[in-house]
Amino acid sequence: MARATATTATLPDHPGMPAPMPWHTAAWTAAVASGVPSILVHGAPGIGERRFALAMAACWLCEAPSGHSPRPCLECPGCKLIEAGNHPDLRVVEPAAMTVDAEDVDADGNGDEDIVEDKDKGKGKSKAAPSQLIVIGQLRPLNELAQISSHRGGARVVVIHPADAMNVAASNALLKMLEEPPAGMRFLLVAHRLQRVSATVRSRCMRVPLPMPTLAQAVPWLQAQGVEDAANALALAGGSPQVALDNADPVRAALSRAWLRCVTEGSATALSAARETKEIGAPQVLSWLVQWTHDLARVKAGAAPRFHPLQATTLQRLASSMTLRAVTRLHRTLLQRQRWIRHPLNAQLTLEALWLDYFQGMGGR
Ligand SMILES: [Zn+2]
Repeated sequence: MARATATTATLPDHPGMPAPMPWHTAAWTAAVASGVPSILVHGAPGIGERRFALAMAACWLCEAPSGHSPRPCLECPGCKLIEAGNHPDLRVVEPAAMTVDAEDVDADGNGDEDIVEDKDKGKGKSKAAPSQLIVIGQLRPLNELAQISSHRGGARVVVIHPADAMNVAASNALLKMLEEPPAGMRFLLVAHRLQRVSATVRSRCMRVPLPMPTLAQAVPWLQAQGVEDAANALALAGGSPQVALDNADPVRAALSRAWLRCVTEGSATALSAARETKEIGAPQVLSWLVQWTHDLARVKAGAAPRFHPLQATTLQRLASSMTLRAVTRLHRTLLQRQRWIRHPLNAQLTLEALWLDYFQGMGGR
């Protein structure tokens, strides 16, 4: 295929066509100009890293003549297929938890956890939450992709997101392909924690670090997406604009308010909080609890909250009845929980355990 030439990062926003963020310009230019078959994009979650990878995939799959700018051109058959979301030469590999529909988890809508088939083991009896990991079974179809020729006569592109969610077997399977890349196949890996990607996989890719946007870059971008009170939304999202944008979705905003009621209202119990936050899911609930207790510790130590500036008074009220030691202990307990939260466990029990940690910790002296 034609080697992609450097193009501007200021691609027009176009429905269905992923574009890099304004703060990606330098990384985009370097990645496009490199022409390497495998790229490892890494940076904090929510700064547009997935969007960057999908935009790069579109760039590689664009069928405009070599040297055409911008790329993706938005006009060619390859670009039209990307926009329609069904380009036959693109594969996006993500953990089941990112792609599973809500009805797959709770098909009868009765609030119980239903059986989610563990396709990797071919069983289907375990009451497991959808996996947060990328497993070997998801990599096997890539071997078939490598055997067949490209549908559109250009590259075949594989996006792995996040690459640090691959288990050992999946990582080894990918390594084999990276060591001897099938002709015309190109790989885009996205990682949040680079050290969790195996050193051998890392060594086979060009690394492209993505910077955190500055406030001056992120706030106008969020405002342009229609997010109200962009600066506070950004703080709540830990500085990640994509997370701030996702949080602004009305359904998600309602879930976020339900979560906030659970942490601030004295009447909530672990059981009621687990029920209230079931739709949010344990990994997100834990992530928010970690940020919340981080702010509790900051307020207790006399600093301003980092993630929840609007809840400063509530944080002060809660922190005033606790010792600094109890706050720190609670925050550490929740941080430790993050080590196993990616493993598929019973979703409801996991949520109840998290909330039990929180309420027991809040009562600590
Ligand atoms: Zn095109």
